[in-house]
Amino acid sequence: MSVQAHDGGQPLLRVEGVRKHFAFTKGILFAKTLGHVKAVDDVSFDIRAGETLGLVGESGCGKTTTSRMILNLEAPTEGRILLDGEPIHALKGEALKAYRTKVQAVFQDPWSSLNPRMKVGRTIAESLIVNAWGDRARIDERVRELLVQVGLRPEQAQQYPHEFSGGQRQRVALAAALASRPRLIVLDEPVSALDVSIRAQMMNLLKDIQAKDDVAYLLVAHDLATVRHMADHTVVMYLGKIVERAPTAALFDDVRHPYTKALFSAVLVAWPGQAAEEIELRGEVPSPLDPPSGCRFHTRCPYVMAHCSQREPALREVSPDHFVACHLFE
Ligand code: SF4
Repeated sequence: MSVQAHDGGQPLLRVEGVRKHFAFTKGILFAKTLGHVKAVDDVSFDIRAGETLGLVGESGCGKTTTSRMILNLEAPTEGRILLDGEPIHALKGEALKAYRTKVQAVFQDPWSSLNPRMKVGRTIAESLIVNAWGDRARIDERVRELLVQVGLRPEQAQQYPHEFSGGQRQRVALAAALASRPRLIVLDEPVSALDVSIRAQMMNLLKDIQAKDDVAYLLVAHDLATVRHMADHTVVMYLGKIVERAPTAALFDDVRHPYTKALFSAVLVAWPGQAAEEIELRGEVPSPLDPPSGCRFHTRCPYVMAHCSQREPALREVSPDHFVACHLFE
């Protein structure tokens, strides 16, 4: 079922009924397909210009595959992803190159995007050089500007990544992502590798940049405190499916889905003044190779009913802009 995130106007990015199934095979020379892993199964949401959408769930829930499809590193098996109304997986040549400047990424480990043998100024300049953005002097000026924008000093362009702290390296990775003035940045666990003491600084920096540049973020995170602080809307995924989606404030005030409740309960009890019942999740996340029938959460759900293993619940609007996939809300 397709559910759009908000009413009115064309979103910046639309994810429309997207599925990603991976074949799993046996044998090397004459590989035989034994089945398919439904890593992402009928997922829809919108991201508007200048807003943050948080994507949360345990590992294996499909959030990484979803973000890889948005980065155009994987093609969906079914469904479409559109940027400004244009399907992104049909893009080729110059149009694909332009897409890669409009949609950037910052990963948990900044080492993954920084070349240890390259001065950071050169790394930040890379996309400007590739896109023939300007002459040497203009590019140098832009690099200095970007370093200042992320709270570093212009002369640090001459330093190598190992000369920076973890938090500073993440700022360099952010400067490199911002260089081409993207419309959307996929932030994949952007603060989880940082010391708790500097997480807030990084989150505030991201928010300041968003307010100034009107850039949108897809925040992929398992840390709910980060999502609560950063995201305008939050999507919760379990085993490839969206189980709940709502404006972040509404979600944290009124969690509905049993899985979201369990995910949030451990965190909510730590927040003073927040009424919360602690729910313990039974067992491990089932294998996506063979997901449970009906509601995929039924093997772990404390509220499971007889029909939960027979019928898959549809995502329904239970209050304005708040969607839940659970038979308890039918
Ligand atoms: Fe639990 Fe049933 Fe709701 Fe699934 S549909 S979350 S098993 S109550």
